[in-house]
Amino acid sequence: MKLTVLGSGTVVPSATRNSAGYFVESPHLCLMIDCGAGTLHALARYGLPWEMISHIFISHFHLDHVGELASLFFAFKYGMRHSRSEPLTIIGPDGLDRVMKGLSDAFGAQLFEPDFDVQLRMLKPGQKEQLAAGYYLSVAKTPHTPESLAVRIDGQRGSICYTGDTGYSQLLPQFFKEADLLISECSFQKRREGIAHLSIKDAACMAELARVARLLVTHFYFDFDETELKHQLQKYFSGEVIIGSDGLSIEI
Ligand SMILES: [Zn+2]
Ligand SMILES: [Zn+2]
Repeated sequence: MKLTVLGSGTVVPSATRNSAGYFVESPHLCLMIDCGAGTLHALARYGLPWEMISHIFISHFHLDHVGELASLFFAFKYGMRHSRSEPLTIIGPDGLDRVMKGLSDAFGAQLFEPDFDVQLRMLKPGQKEQLAAGYYLSVAKTPHTPESLAVRIDGQRGSICYTGDTGYSQLLPQFFKEADLLISECSFQKRREGIAHLSIKDAACMAELARVARLLVTHFYFDFDETELKHQLQKYFSGEVIIGSDGLSIEI
């Protein structure tokens, strides 16, 4: 599998970091994870086969993760350069149908009726879905919003996990256990009581508890020196640390 970061930022407008988005490619799968502002054009900027997206996963309904979903469907409706017949499955938490209905009420139902079949799958924490032969997606609850989910993709030769947005959790490391790559939000330098996001130490400790091979940090609400941030994460995490940036690609 190949992972590309479409957006390593947050809701804060940034010259260098789009809102959240990731792209997972394998010979049998084209999966977009989250769809925040800037990620639609990033698909083209990084030369990704967006017309072939087979699955979209939405972690939760904050706009920095879902804000460009309608625009992506607008592109499927009017921006396709090649026709396709393969269906598209959009996967997310309970309430995804309500969000899609809201967008369809606002922008027109035809938006969600491209020339290929679109299926909607709402998953509850603990559920697992087969994406393609040998590829599975499973979800776990995160302490962030009532619906927010973390996701795990198990492929033929490796596994990728993504925290979505989350506060510190003692349960999530079990879900991320021994993944080849954990994409973890890393919102703040220090934990902020009452705010359900991870600090640098939280992100590193959860990765260490999960014994993942590589930790890719992203979703930063602070500016940092890359060497210094790496050093701080390595105090608590013994695997490989990767600092997220838009356009970064990793082979799993
Ligand atoms: Zn977010
Ligand atoms: Zn959020």
